[in-house]
Amino acid sequence: MGLPETIETRLFINGEFSESSNGKTFDLTNPATLKHVAKVHEASEEDTDRAVAAAKAAFPSWSALSPEQRGEYFKKLAALIREHNDELSALEAASMGKPVATFFDGMASASTWDNYSRAGRNVGGTTSVQTPGFLNMTLRQPYGVVAAILPWNVPLLFFAKKVCPALIVGNTVVLKSSEKAPLTSAFVATLVQKAGFPPGVLNIITGFGNVSGSILSSHMDVRALSFTGSGRTGRLIQAAAAKSNLKQVYLELGGKSPSVIFDDADLEKAAKETSHSVQGNSGQVCMMNSRIYVQDTAADRYIELFKEHLIKDTRIGDPLSKDTNHGPQADEVQHKTVLKYLDMGKQSGDVILGGGAVSDREGYYIQPTIFTNTAEDATVMKEEIFGPVVNINVFKTEEEVLAKANNTEYGLYASVWTKNIDRAMRFAKGFEAGMVGVNCTSPQTALDMPFGGYKASGTGREGEPNYTLDNFLETKAVLIKL
Ligand code: NAD
Repeated sequence: MGLPETIETRLFINGEFSESSNGKTFDLTNPATLKHVAKVHEASEEDTDRAVAAAKAAFPSWSALSPEQRGEYFKKLAALIREHNDELSALEAASMGKPVATFFDGMASASTWDNYSRAGRNVGGTTSVQTPGFLNMTLRQPYGVVAAILPWNVPLLFFAKKVCPALIVGNTVVLKSSEKAPLTSAFVATLVQKAGFPPGVLNIITGFGNVSGSILSSHMDVRALSFTGSGRTGRLIQAAAAKSNLKQVYLELGGKSPSVIFDDADLEKAAKETSHSVQGNSGQVCMMNSRIYVQDTAADRYIELFKEHLIKDTRIGDPLSKDTNHGPQADEVQHKTVLKYLDMGKQSGDVILGGGAVSDREGYYIQPTIFTNTAEDATVMKEEIFGPVVNINVFKTEEEVLAKANNTEYGLYASVWTKNIDRAMRFAKGFEAGMVGVNCTSPQTALDMPFGGYKASGTGREGEPNYTLDNFLETKAVLIKL
């Protein structure tokens, strides 16, 4: 298992690789070793415009294909991604520190491409004879150019989730990967070329928010934009869209997801899964259960079990080693941010495990940390930390805990642990969240379910095609006078 012989870092525009037009590159550092990994080409304004122009030019012929013809390219790409899963996992480890042993992104991405290869045929309009003298119909048509902007935490899967629904119904795409994890997207560009996608259909660039990101957000020829990232950036993108051409904007944003543990739950199972949620991807998961509420009558036992699992099941180490399941934070900025929150947390709650950087390692490692008795209005209870940090608080009644669980601007994921089916249903209905787990927790999701958030966790849904194809289709009413 290892990195490919040459690491592709150029821009993929109109079916060809090119260096950035102004020669600008930026350095990528391995967060586990602090060693230099690659110089990556940064898309300039001119490159971003060129990518949009290529997508626009490719639109008429791509949208004229049948969904099955478009799906054939998807199947070829899915097979290539599977074939190159090892290189992809090594590239992600080198750029953002994800352990290869926990890398599910490649296979999940390939499944998404396969799943969507068959999805385009389901698109249909309606007919109506309700207006006297008319036989009316609706046509569902692609927008044209769609932009996709990726985060760095699970880039390869988000790549597929954004691009597949847009492309299969006939749009063309410009994708901007995150500057923190651009290597897997650039590698997939080589596979897109191998799969024979027509030039311009899928353009893959990388760069920073203040150049290529903001240009895509305000570009007059981009008709829809799908974004995953922070709420701060999501708001900037929505504002840019409002100020330019009012493009459709779909946002998958952050979370502060609650997990509620009742005393009748299987505490061993609850402790194991909720602790894995905190530790997985070094806590850099949007739907991680970062606020846990445990009933007072079960608190001591649950917290003991939770601690045990977090200690026993966390294997900090080199992301390239098969024994590691906890890598570094993605970069220096993330590392500093999490440490800042840890300091804040110590002021507002009791530390019962961990609490800081891993001192015997060079990279940006942080030990999983548990706070308890944290004030409900403390910053660490309100803001997304995006690191392996959890607050465990105790509750007495159902009413009290549901109000606390919903007392957040976010609404991505929520879970409840109980054997009482009535209570489970009351929470499934009462949680203000786009995804609810009953006796399971995040990152548990399912391919047959939509993915997305309530409130400030986002707009729109990803995942299951029935919930996503509409995002990338216009509806035209055709009135036919008889
Ligand atoms: P981020 O907002 O910093 O960056 C995301 C992307 O936006 C990057 O590609 C970046 O270059 C780009 N960007 C930055 N400024 C921009 C601008 N002004 N205009 C356009 N693009 C701009 O987020 P991140 O640090 O990469 O990701 C972490 C965040 O993503 C967390 O808040 C996490 O919860 C969220 N996230 C959400 C989901 C979800 O599905 N809901 C999934 C993963 C991550």
